[in-house]
Amino acid sequence: MLFRQLFDETSWTYTYLIAEHQGGQALLIDPVLEKIDTYQELIKELDLDLIYALDTHVHADHITALGKLREIYRCETIHGEKSKADGVSRSVKDNEKIQLGKLTLKTIYTPGHTDDSYCFLLENQPTNMLFSGDTLLIGGTGRTDFQHGNSIQQYDSIFNKLLTLDSNTLLYPGHDYRGMTSSTIGEEKRCNPRLQVNSAEEYTALMSNLKLDKPKQMNIAVPANLKCGYL
Ligand code: FE
Repeated sequence: MLFRQLFDETSWTYTYLIAEHQGGQALLIDPVLEKIDTYQELIKELDLDLIYALDTHVHADHITALGKLREIYRCETIHGEKSKADGVSRSVKDNEKIQLGKLTLKTIYTPGHTDDSYCFLLENQPTNMLFSGDTLLIGGTGRTDFQHGNSIQQYDSIFNKLLTLDSNTLLYPGHDYRGMTSSTIGEEKRCNPRLQVNSAEEYTALMSNLKLDKPKQMNIAVPANLKCGYL
């Protein structure tokens, strides 16, 4: 398998490029519009055929490259079925499989950060990889205070879905603000301070005390992302 973790330093977003092999079919998870040149270079260098571009949810902190990538590569643009974005060519349900040659990406509906948040599990030997968007972060979890976020739902998504995955599953989040690149489900279960709670109520109390500023680009990013990145 071919795998690249790419970083947007403006929004601290991770984008993931996955392909079966050099010269094969590829997909991008959470691509950022400003980074389109980097993706094009890499796709050309590795001689890839981009067939899918996916967003884990409608983002509030950067503009998605989905629309632009579809224009350039004629790839399918994928969101979860709960997303209200226009211009998506395929809507995936919970537990649906996205096939990339012999690789399988399974969707997991994980509302909480937003009501349209999905994670993608790459079933890969010997270790599965989870692309967790802003649901589960390294040492953190995605905020739940806008875009129909809900801490009770997020607790359920994390504890009853993500943490039930094999503890060796590699975790690749949508962001990291400390320079961490990956973790595992087992490590997060043991060490993530947000997950050391005994109930959904305790988790909600913790989340409601975060007092975070709104993302700087939010008023531009959300409306643009509801049109797959077209302003
Ligand atoms: Fe987000």
